[in-house]
Amino acid sequence: MFKGSEKEARAELVRAYKEVVDLGLTELSSGNVSLRFGEGMLISPTGASGDTISEDNVVYIGPDDSWEAGQKPSSEWQLHARVYRGSGDTNAIVHTHSDYCVAVACHCKPLPGFHYMVGIFGGDDVPCVPYNTFGSDELARDVAEALQTRSACLMGNHGATARGRTMDAAIKGALRLEISCRHYIHSLAMGEPRLLTKDEWAGFHRRIGNTGYGK
Ligand SMILES: [Zn+2]
Repeated sequence: MFKGSEKEARAELVRAYKEVVDLGLTELSSGNVSLRFGEGMLISPTGASGDTISEDNVVYIGPDDSWEAGQKPSSEWQLHARVYRGSGDTNAIVHTHSDYCVAVACHCKPLPGFHYMVGIFGGDDVPCVPYNTFGSDELARDVAEALQTRSACLMGNHGATARGRTMDAAIKGALRLEISCRHYIHSLAMGEPRLLTKDEWAGFHRRIGNTGYGK
């Protein structure tokens, strides 16, 4: 959980949003970032860009899903709220439409276990939740469910979401998933790559100390 004051948390959210933009994971206003704070969360405003986001327009959403009149949280605020409710050790969430994640997600299939780094998200693939309208209950529900057992997921015909114990972990997760999707797409140029076997996955998860999925 973020330990500082609300002012510091707002500054952290602005810093994080700009970092996600600088990494090339968000263009125009396509992504959103949140930080668990107090009983609720701070989230980037709808239509934010790296140039317009500020400590003042970051929105605090309380545990009763309410915010101050006149403020405009990201349209995906429900998705963020549900992930925090479903995962007590999540303190930050990054949602992106990054290029390679979108390219894979538009096939509405999981990113398969073609490389051992796919395993860092907690399993032997990265699931892809079905398409639903942005901002909908159904999309929020499906992402929250997928993120019970993984630290990131793809979203069909849409993008990706990564969660972390810290903001840095969530940002790194979003970046690592983008890199893995890029590697997968390059590998497909030579046909379907070989996938790691069940035993190979067991060895990987033993090596990184996973005692089960989602750890
Ligand atoms: Zn989106």
